[in-house]
Amino acid sequence: MPVNLLDFDSKQLADFVASVGEKPFRARQLMRWVHHFGESDFERMTDLARSLRAKLAHEALVALPSLLADSTAADGTRKWLLDVGAGNGIETVFIPEANRGTLCVSSQVGCALECAFCSTGRQGFNRNLGVGEIIGQLWWANRALGRDARSDPATGDRIITNIVMMGMGEPLANFDNVVTALRIMLDDNAYGLSRRRVTVSTSGIVPNIDRLREECPVALAVSLHAPNDALRDRLVPINRKWPLAQLLAACKRYVEAAPHDGGTPEAGSLGEKWQRKSSPRDFVTFEYVMLAGVNDQPAHARELLRITDEAPCKFNLIPFNPFPQSGFERSGPDAVRRFQQILLDAGVVATVRRTRGDDIEGACGQLAGKVNDRTRRRERRQTEVRA
Ligand code: SAH
Ligand code: SF4
Repeated sequence: MPVNLLDFDSKQLADFVASVGEKPFRARQLMRWVHHFGESDFERMTDLARSLRAKLAHEALVALPSLLADSTAADGTRKWLLDVGAGNGIETVFIPEANRGTLCVSSQVGCALECAFCSTGRQGFNRNLGVGEIIGQLWWANRALGRDARSDPATGDRIITNIVMMGMGEPLANFDNVVTALRIMLDDNAYGLSRRRVTVSTSGIVPNIDRLREECPVALAVSLHAPNDALRDRLVPINRKWPLAQLLAACKRYVEAAPHDGGTPEAGSLGEKWQRKSSPRDFVTFEYVMLAGVNDQPAHARELLRITDEAPCKFNLIPFNPFPQSGFERSGPDAVRRFQQILLDAGVVATVRRTRGDDIEGACGQLAGKVNDRTRRRERRQTEVRA
């Protein structure tokens, strides 16, 4: 069986190259061809010896998920639906902004965690994505955006400057594959992104926050969504396994252990003044979905400040993005502003995430893809609704 080169980080590629009797520098060349230049045809890798190209044609592939749909929202947000076999499709979203381009990447087909307000959770779960299926989203997006991974030929800038693991699935529930994919994102011969520009978002798989800190520290976002266990148990059920005290302790460990890699702050971003004093891994970003009448009251904001005062953090408030039969409503702008102001008054950075791409169901929490559900969650729900 030929191997899929998209599955390999640099070390695994070096092992593969050695196994077919080639010198180590060939691994670097291959890494650059596949990721940097987005080439999947060995015949076009012109600086590889003909004999090596023939060997590769037998032993290896660059196997990509195929494209099922490609939609662009009025605000320029673009969403791709990629086929990952057996009736499953995953979604990837590109969000262009003035001074950055963010790719939102999926880590699983569906999600097993069932947060109450999330459309992905509602779809059920099929399986973890492989490394090639995770990194294939980045490969595809670069290709579809008409660029190689290095730069926009006109400006010299990259098209995809930031990656957030905030698509379908819980990245820390697919730990090994996600970490290998992260290594490829950071690899200078592949996508060369800095650790500050790659963010893993987790609903709170505590032991794997610690493993991420040890194995591949990148920027960390934690889906908090509630200031106490009673409410969080209801909104984010994984809280019953790892309650807030344990989650916040892991966040503190993450920040304390993060090596400082210096670097300049991202110009123009919100919270820029604050960031100037620190590198982005000096803090954890707490995501907080704003659900009308559920978690958006001033008392919730004050309770949040009390529980997070030991962890260097900033808050990203996400107005809830509705989907059919969610049972929740988005907090009004006044409620969001009032909540934000309480955090700001306490000297905590708090931004409000702008809704992007909601007309193509590409906003946070709206990614549904095509999930051949193995948990029979949808069936169970329908039975509950009928009962
Ligand atoms: N599973 C990971 C990453 C994917 S979700 C996690 O839960 O962190 C990315 C973010 O979108 C999370 O903060 C998630 O809680 C939030 N989200 C989910 N559903 C949403 C919705 N309907 N509206 C707004 N944000 C939502
Ligand atoms: Fe899964 Fe994240 Fe959605 Fe929760 S919010 S169901 S962890 S994708």
